[in-house]
Amino acid sequence: MPDYTIDVQGMVDFLTALLNIPSPTGYHEAAIEACENSFSNLPLALHRSRKGVLIGTWEGHEGSAPRGLTAHIDTLGAMVDTIKKDGRLKLTQLGGWAWGSVEGEGVTIMTQSGQTYRGTILPTKASVHIYGADARDFKRDSDHYEVRLDIRADDAEEVCILGISVGDFVAFDPRIEIGKAGFIRSRHLDDKAGVACIYGAVKALADAGLVPAQRAIVHISNYEEVGHGGAAGFPPDMAELLTIDMAAAGGPQNSDEFSVGICVKDAGGPYHIEMKRRLVALAEAADIPYRLDVYPYYGSDGEAYWRSGGDVAVGLIGPGVDASHHYERTHVDSLEATARLIAEYLLAE
Ligand SMILES: [Zn+2]
Repeated sequence: MPDYTIDVQGMVDFLTALLNIPSPTGYHEAAIEACENSFSNLPLALHRSRKGVLIGTWEGHEGSAPRGLTAHIDTLGAMVDTIKKDGRLKLTQLGGWAWGSVEGEGVTIMTQSGQTYRGTILPTKASVHIYGADARDFKRDSDHYEVRLDIRADDAEEVCILGISVGDFVAFDPRIEIGKAGFIRSRHLDDKAGVACIYGAVKALADAGLVPAQRAIVHISNYEEVGHGGAAGFPPDMAELLTIDMAAAGGPQNSDEFSVGICVKDAGGPYHIEMKRRLVALAEAADIPYRLDVYPYYGSDGEAYWRSGGDVAVGLIGPGVDASHHYERTHVDSLEATARLIAEYLLAE
Protein backbone atom coordinates (compact mmCIF):
# COMPACT_ATOMS: atom_id res chain seq x y z
CA MET A 1 0.00 0.00 0.00
CA PRO A 2 1.43 3.43 -0.88
CA ASP A 3 2.06 5.61 2.12
CA TYR A 4 0.42 9.03 2.33
CA THR A 5 -1.41 11.03 4.98
CA ILE A 6 -4.47 13.22 4.52
CA ASP A 7 -3.87 16.57 6.24
CA VAL A 8 -7.36 16.80 7.73
CA GLN A 9 -6.75 20.15 9.42
CA GLY A 10 -5.37 21.60 6.18
CA MET A 11 -8.47 20.37 4.38
CA VAL A 12 -10.77 21.95 7.00
CA ASP A 13 -8.85 25.24 6.79
CA PHE A 14 -9.18 25.23 2.98
CA LEU A 15 -12.91 24.47 3.33
CA THR A 16 -13.48 27.22 5.91
CA ALA A 17 -11.79 29.82 3.72
CA LEU A 18 -13.83 28.74 0.70
CA LEU A 19 -17.12 28.74 2.64
CA ASN A 20 -16.44 32.35 3.63
CA ILE A 21 -16.26 33.47 -0.01
CA PRO A 22 -19.77 34.07 -1.40
CA SER A 23 -20.31 32.16 -4.66
CA PRO A 24 -23.98 31.81 -5.57
CA THR A 25 -24.24 30.30 -9.06
CA GLY A 26 -23.18 32.91 -11.61
CA TYR A 27 -21.04 34.84 -9.14
CA HIS A 28 -18.01 32.59 -9.10
CA GLU A 29 -14.90 34.68 -9.78
CA ALA A 30 -13.61 35.17 -6.23
CA ALA A 31 -14.15 31.53 -5.24
CA ILE A 32 -12.47 30.25 -8.42
CA GLU A 33 -9.57 32.61 -7.80
CA ALA A 34 -9.20 31.36 -4.21
CA CYS A 35 -9.08 27.76 -5.49
CA GLU A 36 -6.56 28.77 -8.12
CA ASN A 37 -4.33 30.29 -5.41
CA SER A 38 -4.50 27.18 -3.21
CA PHE A 39 -4.11 24.76 -6.12
CA SER A 40 -1.07 26.67 -7.39
CA ASN A 41 0.86 24.98 -4.55
CA LEU A 42 -0.04 21.55 -5.97
CA PRO A 43 1.57 19.85 -8.98
CA LEU A 44 -1.27 20.96 -11.28
CA ALA A 45 -0.93 22.93 -14.53
CA LEU A 46 -3.82 25.37 -14.17
CA HIS A 47 -5.97 27.29 -16.61
CA ARG A 48 -9.50 28.66 -16.73
CA SER A 49 -12.03 27.90 -19.46
CA ARG A 50 -14.00 30.66 -21.17
CA LYS A 51 -16.99 29.67 -19.03
CA GLY A 52 -14.87 30.21 -15.91
CA VAL A 53 -14.16 26.60 -14.88
CA LEU A 54 -10.81 26.07 -13.15
CA ILE A 55 -8.99 23.17 -14.79
CA GLY A 56 -5.84 21.56 -13.44
CA THR A 57 -3.82 18.85 -15.15
CA TRP A 58 -1.52 16.48 -13.29
CA GLU A 59 0.75 14.31 -15.40
CA GLY A 60 0.57 10.65 -14.40
CA HIS A 61 2.75 7.61 -15.00
CA GLU A 62 0.63 7.10 -18.11
CA GLY A 63 -1.61 9.22 -20.30
CA SER A 64 -3.44 6.46 -22.16
CA ALA A 65 -6.73 6.79 -20.21
CA PRO A 66 -6.87 10.15 -18.38
CA ARG A 67 -9.12 10.39 -15.31
CA GLY A 68 -11.23 13.44 -14.50
CA LEU A 69 -12.27 14.68 -11.07
CA THR A 70 -14.98 17.32 -10.81
CA ALA A 71 -16.51 19.24 -7.90
CA HIS A 72 -18.41 22.53 -7.89
CA ILE A 73 -17.78 25.82 -6.06
CA ASP A 74 -21.09 27.42 -7.01
CA THR A 75 -23.74 27.34 -4.30
CA LEU A 76 -27.38 28.07 -3.77
CA GLY A 77 -28.29 31.75 -3.59
CA ALA A 78 -30.66 34.35 -4.93
CA MET A 79 -30.92 37.43 -7.11
CA VAL A 80 -32.86 40.65 -6.71
CA ASP A 81 -36.05 40.22 -8.73
CA THR A 82 -37.95 43.38 -7.76
CA ILE A 83 -37.32 46.43 -5.62
CA LYS A 84 -40.67 46.91 -3.93
CA LYS A 85 -42.27 50.33 -3.40
CA ASP A 86 -41.33 50.25 0.30
CA GLY A 87 -37.67 49.51 -0.50
CA ARG A 88 -37.73 45.82 0.41
CA LEU A 89 -36.43 43.29 -2.12
CA LYS A 90 -38.27 40.42 -3.73
CA LEU A 91 -35.93 37.56 -4.64
CA THR A 92 -35.66 35.01 -7.42
CA GLN A 93 -33.97 31.69 -6.62
CA LEU A 94 -30.59 30.43 -7.83
CA GLY A 95 -30.67 26.64 -7.52
CA GLY A 96 -33.23 24.38 -5.90
CA TRP A 97 -33.92 25.32 -2.29
CA ALA A 98 -37.01 25.55 -0.13
CA TRP A 99 -38.02 29.04 1.02
CA GLY A 100 -38.42 27.90 4.61
CA SER A 101 -34.74 26.88 4.66
CA VAL A 102 -33.56 30.52 4.46
CA GLU A 103 -36.16 32.13 6.70
CA GLY A 104 -34.41 34.59 9.02
CA GLU A 105 -31.03 34.14 7.30
CA GLY A 106 -28.58 37.02 6.98
CA VAL A 107 -27.64 37.94 3.42
CA THR A 108 -25.16 40.06 1.50
CA ILE A 109 -26.31 41.91 -1.61
CA MET A 110 -23.46 42.32 -4.14
CA THR A 111 -24.13 45.28 -6.43
CA GLN A 112 -23.01 45.83 -10.00
CA SER A 113 -20.37 48.35 -8.89
CA GLY A 114 -18.92 46.00 -6.27
CA GLN A 115 -20.56 47.49 -3.18
CA THR A 116 -22.09 45.16 -0.62
CA TYR A 117 -25.12 45.64 1.62
CA ARG A 118 -26.42 43.50 4.44
CA GLY A 119 -29.95 42.37 5.17
CA THR A 120 -32.21 39.52 6.29
CA ILE A 121 -34.64 37.22 4.50
CA LEU A 122 -37.98 37.52 6.30
CA PRO A 123 -41.58 36.58 5.69
CA THR A 124 -43.57 39.55 4.38
CA LYS A 125 -45.65 39.22 7.56
CA ALA A 126 -42.90 38.37 10.05
CA SER A 127 -44.00 39.80 13.38
CA VAL A 128 -46.50 37.79 15.44
CA HIS A 129 -47.33 40.98 17.35
CA ILE A 130 -48.55 42.60 14.17
CA TYR A 131 -49.88 39.76 12.08
CA GLY A 132 -50.85 37.07 14.63
CA ALA A 133 -51.84 33.81 12.95
CA ASP A 134 -50.75 35.09 9.51
CA ALA A 135 -47.14 35.14 10.78
CA ARG A 136 -47.40 31.44 11.61
CA ASP A 137 -49.24 29.97 8.66
CA PHE A 138 -48.47 31.15 5.17
CA LYS A 139 -47.38 29.70 1.86
CA ARG A 140 -43.59 29.36 1.69
CA ASP A 141 -43.01 30.87 -1.76
CA SER A 142 -41.32 33.86 -3.39
CA ASP A 143 -44.37 36.08 -2.87
CA HIS A 144 -44.24 35.65 0.90
CA TYR A 145 -40.56 36.45 1.54
CA GLU A 146 -38.50 39.60 1.12
CA VAL A 147 -35.14 41.09 2.09
CA ARG A 148 -35.12 43.73 4.79
CA LEU A 149 -32.04 45.84 4.09
CA ASP A 150 -29.98 47.24 6.96
CA ILE A 151 -30.02 50.72 5.46
CA ARG A 152 -32.14 53.82 5.98
CA ALA A 153 -34.29 53.93 2.88
CA ASP A 154 -38.04 54.43 2.85
CA ASP A 155 -38.80 53.63 -0.76
CA ALA A 156 -37.53 52.02 -3.95
CA GLU A 157 -36.00 55.23 -5.21
CA GLU A 158 -33.73 55.61 -2.18
CA VAL A 159 -32.64 51.98 -2.53
CA CYS A 160 -31.79 52.50 -6.20
CA ILE A 161 -29.73 55.60 -5.39
CA LEU A 162 -27.52 53.37 -3.20
CA GLY A 163 -26.67 51.32 -6.28
CA ILE A 164 -28.88 48.29 -5.62
CA SER A 165 -30.62 47.05 -8.73
CA VAL A 166 -32.62 44.20 -10.19
CA GLY A 167 -30.21 41.38 -11.03
CA ASP A 168 -27.84 41.90 -8.11
CA PHE A 169 -26.60 38.65 -6.57
CA VAL A 170 -27.64 37.74 -3.04
CA ALA A 171 -25.52 35.38 -0.89
CA PHE A 172 -26.78 33.58 2.21
CA ASP A 173 -24.57 33.67 5.30
CA PRO A 174 -22.85 30.27 5.60
CA ARG A 175 -22.73 30.44 9.46
CA ILE A 176 -19.77 28.08 9.79
CA GLU A 177 -19.25 26.37 13.12
CA ILE A 178 -16.64 23.68 13.67
CA GLY A 179 -17.31 21.73 16.84
CA LYS A 180 -14.92 19.85 19.11
CA ALA A 181 -16.57 16.54 18.16
CA GLY A 182 -15.50 17.02 14.55
CA PHE A 183 -18.81 18.21 13.13
CA ILE A 184 -18.75 21.03 10.56
CA ARG A 185 -21.99 22.98 10.44
CA SER A 186 -22.48 25.42 7.57
CA ARG A 187 -24.50 26.24 4.52
CA HIS A 188 -22.92 25.36 1.18
CA LEU A 189 -20.99 22.27 2.26
CA ASP A 190 -22.57 21.16 -1.02
CA ASP A 191 -20.17 21.16 -2.72
CA LYS A 192 -17.34 23.16 -1.18
CA ALA A 193 -16.67 20.11 1.00
CA GLY A 194 -16.20 18.12 -2.21
CA VAL A 195 -13.71 20.69 -3.55
CA ALA A 196 -11.85 20.47 -0.23
CA CYS A 197 -11.68 16.66 -0.54
CA ILE A 198 -10.03 16.94 -3.97
CA TYR A 199 -7.58 19.47 -2.54
CA GLY A 200 -6.84 17.15 0.42
CA ALA A 201 -6.30 14.10 -1.80
CA VAL A 202 -4.01 15.78 -4.33
CA LYS A 203 -2.01 17.48 -1.56
CA ALA A 204 -1.57 14.19 0.33
CA LEU A 205 -0.23 12.37 -2.72
CA ALA A 206 2.00 15.27 -3.76
CA ASP A 207 3.40 15.63 -0.21
CA ALA A 208 4.25 11.91 -0.26
CA GLY A 209 5.99 12.25 -3.63
CA LEU A 210 3.37 10.08 -5.33
CA VAL A 211 2.09 10.51 -8.88
CA PRO A 212 -1.29 9.36 -10.27
CA ALA A 213 -1.34 6.20 -12.38
CA GLN A 214 -3.00 8.09 -15.24
CA ARG A 215 -2.98 11.77 -16.12
CA ALA A 216 -5.57 13.47 -13.88
CA ILE A 217 -7.79 16.41 -14.77
CA VAL A 218 -9.21 18.44 -11.89
CA HIS A 219 -12.33 20.37 -12.98
CA ILE A 220 -13.75 22.93 -10.53
CA SER A 221 -17.16 23.72 -11.87
CA ASN A 222 -19.14 26.95 -11.53
CA TYR A 223 -22.70 26.22 -12.75
CA GLU A 224 -23.64 22.87 -11.16
CA GLU A 225 -26.62 24.10 -9.13
CA VAL A 226 -28.38 25.12 -12.34
CA GLY A 227 -27.58 21.85 -14.13
CA HIS A 228 -24.89 22.52 -16.74
CA GLY A 229 -21.65 22.97 -14.79
CA GLY A 230 -20.13 19.72 -16.06
CA ALA A 231 -21.36 20.08 -19.63
CA ALA A 232 -17.98 21.33 -20.85
CA GLY A 233 -14.35 21.81 -19.89
CA PHE A 234 -12.96 18.26 -20.17
CA PRO A 235 -10.28 17.16 -22.64
CA PRO A 236 -11.47 14.89 -25.48
CA ASP A 237 -9.14 12.02 -24.49
CA MET A 238 -10.53 11.74 -20.94
CA ALA A 239 -11.61 8.13 -20.33
CA GLU A 240 -13.54 8.40 -17.06
CA LEU A 241 -14.94 11.00 -14.71
CA LEU A 242 -15.27 10.78 -10.95
CA THR A 243 -17.73 13.38 -9.69
CA ILE A 244 -17.17 14.51 -6.11
CA ASP A 245 -20.42 15.82 -4.70
CA MET A 246 -22.22 15.49 -1.41
CA ALA A 247 -23.88 12.30 -0.28
CA ALA A 248 -27.42 13.02 0.92
CA ALA A 249 -27.37 11.75 4.51
CA GLY A 250 -30.32 11.63 6.90
CA GLY A 251 -33.79 10.11 7.21
CA PRO A 252 -34.24 6.97 5.14
CA GLN A 253 -30.89 7.32 3.33
CA ASN A 254 -28.06 4.81 3.70
CA SER A 255 -25.41 7.59 3.65
CA ASP A 256 -24.05 9.06 6.86
CA GLU A 257 -21.77 11.92 7.97
CA PHE A 258 -18.81 9.69 8.83
CA SER A 259 -18.07 7.74 5.65
CA VAL A 260 -17.74 8.37 1.93
CA GLY A 261 -20.97 7.98 0.00
CA ILE A 262 -20.84 6.06 -3.27
CA CYS A 263 -23.91 6.98 -5.30
CA VAL A 264 -25.30 4.07 -7.31
CA LYS A 265 -28.30 5.92 -8.76
CA ASP A 266 -29.89 9.35 -8.58
CA ALA A 267 -32.72 11.16 -10.38
CA GLY A 268 -30.76 10.84 -13.62
CA GLY A 269 -30.42 7.07 -13.39
CA PRO A 270 -27.57 4.70 -12.49
CA TYR A 271 -23.90 5.66 -12.56
CA HIS A 272 -21.43 3.51 -14.48
CA ILE A 273 -21.31 -0.02 -13.09
CA GLU A 274 -17.59 -0.49 -13.72
CA MET A 275 -16.81 2.70 -11.78
CA LYS A 276 -19.03 1.56 -8.91
CA ARG A 277 -17.34 -1.86 -8.80
CA ARG A 278 -13.88 -0.29 -8.80
CA LEU A 279 -14.72 2.33 -6.15
CA VAL A 280 -16.17 -0.30 -3.81
CA ALA A 281 -13.13 -2.54 -4.33
CA LEU A 282 -10.75 0.35 -3.65
CA ALA A 283 -12.63 1.35 -0.48
CA GLU A 284 -12.60 -2.24 0.79
CA ALA A 285 -8.92 -2.78 0.00
CA ALA A 286 -7.89 0.42 1.80
CA ASP A 287 -10.36 -0.05 4.67
CA ILE A 288 -12.18 3.21 3.93
CA PRO A 289 -15.67 3.46 5.47
CA TYR A 290 -18.19 3.80 2.61
CA ARG A 291 -21.95 3.73 2.08
CA LEU A 292 -23.72 2.86 -1.15
CA ASP A 293 -26.81 4.96 -1.70
CA VAL A 294 -29.59 6.10 -4.03
CA TYR A 295 -30.60 9.78 -4.06
CA PRO A 296 -34.14 10.31 -5.38
CA TYR A 297 -34.04 14.10 -6.01
CA TYR A 298 -30.47 14.70 -7.07
CA GLY A 299 -28.43 15.37 -10.20
CA SER A 300 -24.71 15.95 -10.76
CA ASP A 301 -22.09 17.42 -13.03
CA GLY A 302 -21.17 13.88 -14.07
CA GLU A 303 -24.63 13.50 -15.57
CA ALA A 304 -24.40 16.97 -17.10
CA TYR A 305 -21.31 15.73 -18.97
CA TRP A 306 -23.08 12.54 -20.05
CA ARG A 307 -26.06 14.53 -21.32
CA SER A 308 -23.79 16.88 -23.23
CA GLY A 309 -22.33 13.88 -25.06
CA GLY A 310 -19.40 12.88 -22.84
CA ASP A 311 -18.38 9.34 -23.86
CA VAL A 312 -16.76 8.29 -20.59
CA ALA A 313 -17.50 6.12 -17.56
CA VAL A 314 -18.95 8.32 -14.78
CA GLY A 315 -19.00 7.68 -11.03
CA LEU A 316 -20.07 9.77 -8.04
CA ILE A 317 -18.72 9.84 -4.50
CA GLY A 318 -18.81 12.45 -1.76
CA PRO A 319 -18.89 13.38 1.91
CA GLY A 320 -22.15 12.77 3.76
CA VAL A 321 -24.10 15.99 4.30
CA ASP A 322 -27.11 16.13 6.60
CA ALA A 323 -30.00 18.51 5.75
CA SER A 324 -28.60 19.25 2.31
CA HIS A 325 -29.67 22.54 0.69
CA HIS A 326 -30.70 23.66 4.19
CA TYR A 327 -28.41 24.50 7.13
CA GLU A 328 -26.07 21.58 6.42
CA ARG A 329 -23.68 19.51 8.51
CA THR A 330 -20.92 17.00 7.91
CA HIS A 331 -18.06 15.51 9.92
CA VAL A 332 -14.30 15.53 9.40
CA ASP A 333 -14.34 11.72 9.21
CA SER A 334 -16.45 11.95 6.07
CA LEU A 335 -14.06 14.45 4.49
CA GLU A 336 -11.12 12.19 5.28
CA ALA A 337 -12.82 9.05 3.92
CA THR A 338 -13.71 10.88 0.72
CA ALA A 339 -10.20 12.31 0.26
CA ARG A 340 -8.73 8.84 0.82
CA LEU A 341 -10.99 7.23 -1.77
CA ILE A 342 -10.06 9.96 -4.28
CA ALA A 343 -6.37 9.31 -3.57
CA GLU A 344 -6.81 5.55 -4.00
CA TYR A 345 -8.66 6.13 -7.26
CA LEU A 346 -5.87 8.31 -8.61
CA LEU A 347 -3.19 5.77 -7.64
CA ALA A 348 -5.02 2.65 -8.86
CA GLU A 349 -3.49 0.92 -11.88
ZN1 LIG B 1 -23.70 19.67 -5.19
